[in-house]
Amino acid sequence: MSQIQAAIMTGPGQIDVRSYPKPQIGDDEVLLKIERTGICGSDKHMFAGHMALPFPVIPGHELVGTIEEMGPAAADSLAIVGGPVAVGDRVTTTPSSRACGRCYYCLHMPQRPTLCSNRFVYGFVSADLAPIPRGGFAEYLHLTGHSWLFKIPDDLPSERAVLTEPAAVATRAVERALGPGIPHIGEGLGLDKSVLVLGAGPIGQLVVAVLSHIGTDLIIAGDLSAARLELARTMGAHQVLAMGEGSPEQRQLALQDMTAGVGADIVIETAGVPVAFKESLDLVRRGGIVVEVGHFTDPGGVEIHPHIVCFKDLDIRGMWAYPSMQFKTALSFLRRTTAPLDRFITHRLPLSDIREGLDITGGEEAMKVVVEPGN
Ligand SMILES: [Zn+2]
Ligand SMILES: [Zn+2]
Repeated sequence: MSQIQAAIMTGPGQIDVRSYPKPQIGDDEVLLKIERTGICGSDKHMFAGHMALPFPVIPGHELVGTIEEMGPAAADSLAIVGGPVAVGDRVTTTPSSRACGRCYYCLHMPQRPTLCSNRFVYGFVSADLAPIPRGGFAEYLHLTGHSWLFKIPDDLPSERAVLTEPAAVATRAVERALGPGIPHIGEGLGLDKSVLVLGAGPIGQLVVAVLSHIGTDLIIAGDLSAARLELARTMGAHQVLAMGEGSPEQRQLALQDMTAGVGADIVIETAGVPVAFKESLDLVRRGGIVVEVGHFTDPGGVEIHPHIVCFKDLDIRGMWAYPSMQFKTALSFLRRTTAPLDRFITHRLPLSDIREGLDITGGEEAMKVVVEPGN
């Protein structure tokens, strides 16, 4: 039986590329040949031990591949969007399998499918359970019949399509700030609103690009890194806030200067640093909205004064990933945006360099690091 390579994380700080038998798919399954997979901040956090996971895990969930094999019943079993699809087609898949439709959350809150108690998530699931591999840092991905497939439009190059998963996070983060009502009377994101995006890593940059794409009036990016803030300007930020300069009070005043003296209508926290959540509460105006995106993993806590939530009459909205159909939104954004996303991928590495890729992810010189098992 032929062998394939996959990177396996056996615990925090431990990752190796190993050989596995090439997967044999069932009638309702699909075998993807992985072309490229982006390294996510959550892969880095997972490697640092910030997430309780069923190790060993084959990580990786931001992937583009081509269909190598497709079982005869797969088209009736998988959720396929933008299709039909056939062997040889370029596709991506959501990390999450389909929701079960039977658990408490599926029955009561079907509009929030990521709360389903019975789904599994590629790149986070145990590699001790078949089918293997179920993660993107591998030459192949074995997709069960409970998976999603999105056909990649022909005019969307793979270099852009590999950003579909982070763009799903970014578009949902922006949609979480939408609110019902009439502009100026209602609440939430509208054209004439100011949005502070805290954190100018890959997700923050994409949030800026999405806000720009929909025509947001004032987009402000905040980060410690001057280089990242410069990149955020090219993605559509009108103003920047240097989070490493001055005291928190001085930053608050600097922001008020940009926002009619009140603070941002909306703050979207993408940094994933606990203190950034605290500062979001300080920087949003009274009656505003804070969207917390960055803490998909748990790097610790921060002290806040809950009084500020009452005093400011705040809406705080979390998000646990996104419904799978968000990939359709993300693909449409990636096709249409004029943001210079070609500047986004700073490193391309073979699968054997996965550890180096994790090391450089999050560093000053890296934006998106992409592993290319297909090369
Ligand atoms: Zn991701
Ligand atoms: Zn369910």
